[in-house]
Amino acid sequence: MSILIDGKATSAKVKKRIAAEVAEMIDKDIRAPHLVAVLVGTDPASEFYVKSKEKSCRAVGMTSSVYKHSAKISETELLEIIDFLNNDPEVDGFIVQLPLPDHINVDRIINRIDPAKDVDGFHPMNIGKMVLGAPSYLPATPSGILMLMEEYNIETEGKNIVVLGRSNIVGTPMSILLSRKSNPGNATVTLCHSRTENLKEITAQADIIIAAIGQPEFVKADMVKKGAVIIDVGIHRVDDDSKEKGYRITGDVAFDEVSKKASKITPVPGGVGLMTIAALLENTLKAAKKEVYR
Ligand code: NDP
Repeated sequence: MSILIDGKATSAKVKKRIAAEVAEMIDKDIRAPHLVAVLVGTDPASEFYVKSKEKSCRAVGMTSSVYKHSAKISETELLEIIDFLNNDPEVDGFIVQLPLPDHINVDRIINRIDPAKDVDGFHPMNIGKMVLGAPSYLPATPSGILMLMEEYNIETEGKNIVVLGRSNIVGTPMSILLSRKSNPGNATVTLCHSRTENLKEITAQADIIIAAIGQPEFVKADMVKKGAVIIDVGIHRVDDDSKEKGYRITGDVAFDEVSKKASKITPVPGGVGLMTIAALLENTLKAAKKEVYR
């Protein structure tokens, strides 16, 4: 049996279900869900992510628009765009692609988004609801990981889970979701970061490791217990002369060595990244159906 946790197949399955629900809405003469992405500047990674989101939206029958703006846009102008989107009845949800230029205060931008249209799940209102276990838009990457865990029947109850990285968009919400009284959940979670001491001793005890630290191939085989489940969130392009393109895409986990000890592992690419988009579509569908906010 393969040890790979296949994000491609799982995201295709989720998207198929979403597409069927969108088709049902259209059959009932209900407008297709509409997602807007706000893109500031020309960062190639951000452009790539926004393009992938657009493509996936269209593939499930949703409407997708991109508002592109120069990196010189002022914070006030960006806030006005957010106000406009908040008030546009034809827009169900929108995201502001991060990172933003240094002269823009990210918190002020996120706080201005109407929580009912915050399909990235980054607004404090949605984070607060998530912490309390109330219906909310879950941040897309942790939500996609939960979908993978469900699909592969990865038992989390009573397990020792180590989350590497405490960002607001991945590590911190992931640790909260897995320690909640729910399924997946009910785990004993340790959240590690750059000040954690004896990291290797901690990860070596883990039944499940979720790596989201932004360091290429940081998690090595000697940090992992035999039979552990490994979820790799990282995504990096590293130079590799042995490849025709001169680079390869890799994660936060040294896949070749860690996969020899793991019972299950997500590949990069083909793992968590695709699930992040599937989870964003799921949130957009919920927004259009007004399932979280009426
Ligand atoms: P951030 O850079 O915001 O956070 C990194 C976290 O890792 C911080 O908490 C930091 O600690 C911690 N960290 C950094 N170095 C170490 C170390 N040596 N030991 C222990 N902890 C460390 O990362 P993100 O959460 O935004 O992203 C993480 C990775 O996931 C990136 O590679 C990113 O590209 C990828 N990503 C992938 C997505 C997908 O859909 N596949 C979506 C989002 C991100 P401290 O807080 O102390 O600084």
